Amino acid sequence: MKVPFLDFVGPYEELRAELDEAYFRFMRTGWYILGRETEAFEQEFAEYCGSKYCIGVGNGLEALHLILRAYGIGEGDEVVVPSNTYIATWLAVSQVGATPVPVEPDPRTYNLDPARIESALTPRTKAIMPVHLYGQPADMDPILEIARRRGLKVIEDNAQAQGARYKGRRTGSLGDAAGNSFYPGKNLGAFGDAGAITTDDPQLAENVRLLRNYGSKVKYHNEVKGYNSRLDEMQAAFLRVKLRKLDEWNERRSQVAADYLAKMRGGPELTLPFVPDWAKPVWHLFVVRHPDRISLQQKLAEAGVGTLIHYPVPPHLSGAYSEAGWKEGAFPIAEELARKVLSLPVGPHVASEQVAGVITEVNRIVRALRA
Ligand SMILES: *Cc1c(COP(=O)(O)O)cnc(C)c1O
Repeated sequence: MKVPFLDFVGPYEELRAELDEAYFRFMRTGWYILGRETEAFEQEFAEYCGSKYCIGVGNGLEALHLILRAYGIGEGDEVVVPSNTYIATWLAVSQVGATPVPVEPDPRTYNLDPARIESALTPRTKAIMPVHLYGQPADMDPILEIARRRGLKVIEDNAQAQGARYKGRRTGSLGDAAGNSFYPGKNLGAFGDAGAITTDDPQLAENVRLLRNYGSKVKYHNEVKGYNSRLDEMQAAFLRVKLRKLDEWNERRSQVAADYLAKMRGGPELTLPFVPDWAKPVWHLFVVRHPDRISLQQKLAEAGVGTLIHYPVPPHLSGAYSEAGWKEGAFPIAEELARKVLSLPVGPHVASEQVAGVITEVNRIVRALRA
């Protein structure tokens, strides 16, 4: 049995006719940056998320960065971020000169724990950035309630969760604004780097539109010191094709996850993902915990099952944040997750025989490691 962790060629083959058609259509336009494909994708993705506006940008990190910029968050400000996330969430805050203030996750959902937010707030706090980690929506209502009461912005990091639902509503439309990533491995993946901002806030939409394009609406009339962070036409053309397939592929991910959850034997050693009843995740990753995850990973590799670790080092202990002086033990939940998590193969490419094989191997290896 061979079950690769990721497969980009299978999904391409499945959509080859439409993707190739999009490529040739794009090549013949002779127009490569900020044109009709980007505009059409922006409209279609806004509609998909249930947001009023979508602004295509260069990647997910830039999406988060430009939102913070456009809200005027910077030097001397603080932004609440999860202690357990991909480092991009933190880096966006650091890039505008503000300070990321980590808050621990709920150990069952791995997402920002609303009950821990209040004690992290100071008069300098300007925003809360929940991440819909691994494709599972964060518990947004209590977060939005705190933000409303304290006059804070809520910026969703929706990089891993395109299509997920929180109490019936799509992520990316729940806060003041959201950053989306279309990195190839994400649920809606481009064939290169790409990202987008979604929002209902017309002022923010206008400001990030300016910022992504050198601060100009009219060429060579630069109103502010902007950036070059544009979603290019070719990626937009490909993303339009893939967006039409997103729900079906998310559904296939859910089927894989449902089989894993039904037939993998969780227990004191193997912790399976927990899904609150208000959450409809899109299973960007299927993450289990095991106290000896290195042996589990090694034995799964021997059995032909590819796995990865998301993430081995929490941001506060990474070299990038060494100047902040965090010590081990500062965020014990994030640190324990970093020691124990292991991501199993999930995606539109995983066939049902492969799912069955992964379940058999995980159950067998967990039992053997216990003995
Ligand atoms: C991928 C990712 C990002 C950044 O997206 P890029 O397109 O790679 O810049 C941000 N946050 C999270 C949680 C991510 O997984």
